[in-house]
Amino acid sequence: MKPNLIIFDFDGVLVNTQEAVNKIEWQYLSQHGMKMTFAHFAKKFSGATAFSIIEALKKKKNITLSKSSGQFAEEIDEIVLTKLSSQKIEAFAGVKKVLQNLPFKKCVASNCSLRILRILLTTSTLLAYFNSNIFSADMVRRPKPYPDLFLFAAHSMGVEPGQCLVIEDSVVGIKAAVAAGMKAWGFLGGHHFKSETADQLLKYGAERTFAKMNNLVNLLNKENTMLTSSANESDFSWQRMNMVKSQIELRGIKDKRVLKSMKMVPRHLFVPDGLKDRAYTDSPLPIGYEQTISQPYIVAFMCEAACISPQEKVLEIGTGSGYQAAVLSLLAQKVYTIEIVVSLGKLAQEHLEDLGYKNVHVKIGDGYSGWPEHAPYDAILITAAAEKVPQPLIDQLTVNGRLIMPLGSGYDQQLVRFIKTKTGLKKELLGPVLFVPFQRDPL
Ligand code: SAH
Repeated sequence: MKPNLIIFDFDGVLVNTQEAVNKIEWQYLSQHGMKMTFAHFAKKFSGATAFSIIEALKKKKNITLSKSSGQFAEEIDEIVLTKLSSQKIEAFAGVKKVLQNLPFKKCVASNCSLRILRILLTTSTLLAYFNSNIFSADMVRRPKPYPDLFLFAAHSMGVEPGQCLVIEDSVVGIKAAVAAGMKAWGFLGGHHFKSETADQLLKYGAERTFAKMNNLVNLLNKENTMLTSSANESDFSWQRMNMVKSQIELRGIKDKRVLKSMKMVPRHLFVPDGLKDRAYTDSPLPIGYEQTISQPYIVAFMCEAACISPQEKVLEIGTGSGYQAAVLSLLAQKVYTIEIVVSLGKLAQEHLEDLGYKNVHVKIGDGYSGWPEHAPYDAILITAAAEKVPQPLIDQLTVNGRLIMPLGSGYDQQLVRFIKTKTGLKKELLGPVLFVPFQRDPL
């Protein structure tokens, strides 16, 4: 029997904390000039990280800060932590018995910071049931890195995603679990649960819902679904790990962050339905409109060559399926991507949104002129071959910025890395490649 894992979204599903957290955050932000009623605040930001709350408030000009969002978020987390430590937190009825009797491995994966998770577990006296199996937003990427968080948790616990069951109380959580290739059950009682979303939990892929935590063990014993199904998803993640090992790592890609991102992004969700069983083979695949999703090795190679660090901004020309943008989104702070084929661009945008890659922004149009509104970029990746580097893209690169692109046409193409210096462009040839042509007129 394969090992199995149950993932709980902690704050909403297991403990009555959300309102307490919301109150502390609201009070603190109100002192810093935020004008919003508590009810509105709680409705809008329940379950969000401090960092994403601040980013959203800043965008709407609802708050001005004298320090960076990161520093401010840490400060809020600290306050929440201190205040919560002095409160007694109530776990949902029956939850301890459930945790004690679960016939599976278990872990917590929640979209808040590790420090807060720990304090919630401690004050609700649930820590002992999870030991160190605690996974939080700051272990992957902000903001709301849901599918990645679940995949990361499964990977760390040594369990295939297809053998995981996620217990979630929100639509966004269910969507994320499904996107991660996991089973999901909806809990009708957590803090992110609203009665009108019960049907939606099912609609977005919850296999079933249940209302009482202390029924969970019985339900699991009755339905042995976990042990039997999901062969496909489990296969996919197995194939993905193999792909990274044999096609990417053994061919010389060393960057740990690139390898990890390639392990996390479910490529089979970016290829057309009929081709899913070829999603992890060593080749590009057609995605319609005479375009292709790039070969996994090339995606990894370009990402490594771009030397992206976590706080950087990246522009991709040629969104295609959106796969490479998803990989980039785990490496960079923000990803902007442009696709010239309208239908492809729209589909990619939907996929990226559904899968929770919130730091990717898709634009439909000719990438030749770049996206000046968000320039300059630390790295630019062009995924279609052109004879010359588009000048507007060079203009939109920072000094020390890297631009990676296939230069040439037909079967005569070289992957090239340009590095912008104060005095001009430095050019390095990285090897022969075969990409679809860069186009100028929208199809
Ligand atoms: N990165 C993609 C690979 C896409 S293939 C992935 O991971 O799936 C190259 C893409 O570039 C095609 O979708 C093509 O339509 C697009 N493209 C070609 N010329 C373009 C241009 N001038 N501006 C934006 N996109 C372009």
